[in-house]
Amino acid sequence: MITVLSGGTGTPKLLQGIKEIVDEKELNIIVNTLENNYFSGVYVSADVDTVLYTMSDLINEDTWYGRKDDTFHTHEELKKLGFDETLRIGDKDRALKIQKTMLMQQYSLTKSIKIQSKSLNILSNILPMSDKQSEIIIRTDEGDLSFHEFLIEKKSEPQVLDVIYKNVEPTEEVLEALENSEQIIIGPSNPITSINPIISMPEVKKILKGKYVTSVSPIIGESAVSGPAAKFMKSKGYEVNPRGVAKIYEEFLDHYIINTTDNKYKNSIEEFTDKVSVTNIILKTMDEKIELAKMILNY
Ligand code: GDP
Repeated sequence: MITVLSGGTGTPKLLQGIKEIVDEKELNIIVNTLENNYFSGVYVSADVDTVLYTMSDLINEDTWYGRKDDTFHTHEELKKLGFDETLRIGDKDRALKIQKTMLMQQYSLTKSIKIQSKSLNILSNILPMSDKQSEIIIRTDEGDLSFHEFLIEKKSEPQVLDVIYKNVEPTEEVLEALENSEQIIIGPSNPITSINPIISMPEVKKILKGKYVTSVSPIIGESAVSGPAAKFMKSKGYEVNPRGVAKIYEEFLDHYIINTTDNKYKNSIEEFTDKVSVTNIILKTMDEKIELAKMILNY
């Protein structure tokens, strides 16, 4: 088995490549749930849904959120009724979210995702990192904000002073998936809000230390490919470059992959890991995604 740790933008791009070369049944994907919450009456677990759509080839690759070819009739009607949705949810995407919300009246998030994976004919094992309702606060120069207030209402503009989260506890399924894996891949996801919540759970970290862990940098040069990762890293006192990410993973990192343009960091990163590879990690075409997947899996 192989286990991939994922957020909702960078790692799903890599998953598209991995999916082409491995037996999907041999793949576990543990997904961040830190920002999960109720919006417009439905439970939104954005990163998990992105992974569900990625693995069923339904993902909207323009936004890495929601389904491709969706419509927004319900969203528009809500607006006409005077309800301004925080998240712009598509009609088909909303159907999945309504189903999840209803399933969760009866089952855990893990079980609900299992049922939805089956409905979408997904053979891989998609696991939310936690079944608990976590809390995340982005402490900024404009006060404490929820993740979505920071990201959507404030467009990631405020200066970030700290990122605080609590109530993250792994499920039995997550620990079992990690235990049963020969290789663990930390995809190019936000190290502070997508990966750290998973790896900082003590039971998870303990298992990672005994496994072969490969990671791909989400940072190229001194900036993130997209999103607020740089601001979050800075607030936690990490250098914003590929080396800063390696430092976060240093306790268990065996192989780290950085971009061709970042060769200058290679030697200094060897302080944190045994092996550093340099290649293209900007994932646009399917060929680029498959090439990177092959390097990671040594195919
Ligand atoms: P979120 O849940 O939407 O925040 O998504 P993730 O945490 O999965 O991914 C966000 C991170 O993905 C950002 O830090 C980006 O820099 C990184 N990212 C996005 N696209 C790419 C890419 O093509 N290559 C690499 N290396 N990183 C990427």
